[in-house]
Amino acid sequence: MENIDLHNHSRVSDGLLSPTELVRLAASNGVTTLSLTDHDDIEGLAEAKAAADEAGIRFINGVEISVTWGSHTIHVVGLNIDPQQSKLVQGLHQIRQGRLARAKLIGDELAKVGISGAFEGALRFAQNPNIIARPHFARYIVEQGHAKNVGQVFKRFLIKGKPGYVRHRWAELSDALSWIRAANGIPVLAHPGRYEMGKAQMETLIDEFMDHGGQALEVVTSNHNKEEVEIFAQHARKRNLMASRGSDFHGPGESFCEPGKLPELPYGCRPVWQMWSSPSTH
Ligand code: AMP
Ligand code: MN
Ligand code: MN
Ligand code: MN
Repeated sequence: MENIDLHNHSRVSDGLLSPTELVRLAASNGVTTLSLTDHDDIEGLAEAKAAADEAGIRFINGVEISVTWGSHTIHVVGLNIDPQQSKLVQGLHQIRQGRLARAKLIGDELAKVGISGAFEGALRFAQNPNIIARPHFARYIVEQGHAKNVGQVFKRFLIKGKPGYVRHRWAELSDALSWIRAANGIPVLAHPGRYEMGKAQMETLIDEFMDHGGQALEVVTSNHNKEEVEIFAQHARKRNLMASRGSDFHGPGESFCEPGKLPELPYGCRPVWQMWSSPSTH
């Protein structure tokens, strides 16, 4: 039976496993097609592809791009991208530079509430110094004994309205989509249920996403409850968008959902993986 998981992280961004370890875990969970979608970086793809070949599973090159849309941070997954494409490579490089500057500011903010050394601490947890993400801060803060787990750190320190939250401008939606499309990838709106917006604003987001060439919604993800899966399945059917399925796995112990351990796409959804598995559309 096919088991397709198109959203996963490795240590190249804020995951806990190496690309090879991730692929092996996914394969042992019965995943038959896997995508690695690290935040704003594609450094792990070659290693993951080699590991997937060895494990005998299919690998799809992916990335998850951080986008600022109005006051919201939105994530767009690019699937089946060409990792050599220069527009994409340059765009991701730009976002990574912004991350470093933001991380320094987060460190300054945390110092004001008594958490010292957070920038250096987060850097120590980041295997890739180009991608310092909030989970690296969270791991450091747990290590220092200021909270008992990563989830608690986010609630207390790292989300909007909390002392260690720093506003940041990521890529424009139009740019992220144009990079993905330039790299022959399929743009997928990641975990739409996670964005704190009302129905009308969600419709506007999907409109704009489609105007810029967006092709799929991530309908099944560990970030969605059953109701959200159904809501976004309806959006996808109504708009004739394809539907994706991805665990958004970050690591054992931190993610509730392991690679491949997800519900199937709801009835009537057009799977995004048809784009590369059916000969007529390739
Ligand atoms: P960043 O891109 O540096 O802002 O970090 C975002 C990452 O933080 C997401 O990709 C998740 O891995 C993680 N994250 C965001 N919100 C939470 C939360 N409430 N609890 C745990 N992890 C979170
Ligand atoms: Mn993440
Ligand atoms: Mn995300
Ligand atoms: Mn993700």
